[in-house]
Amino acid sequence: MSTYIFVCPDCKQEIEVNASMREAILSSGCPVCIESVRATHFEMA
Ligand SMILES: [Zn+2]
Repeated sequence: MSTYIFVCPDCKQEIEVNASMREAILSSGCPVCIESVRATHFEMA
C-alpha cells in the first residue's frame, strides 16, 4: 500500500498516512488544526 507523508501547511504537523487516510485528509482537512489541504501537501514516503 502506498504511504505518504503529510505536512500541514498551517500547524506544520507531519503525519505518515496511507492512501485512504490521504483521501480523508484531502476532504476533511488537517486532523490536527482542520486547515484545508491540497494534494501538494503530501509526499511519497
Ligand atoms: Zn494542521
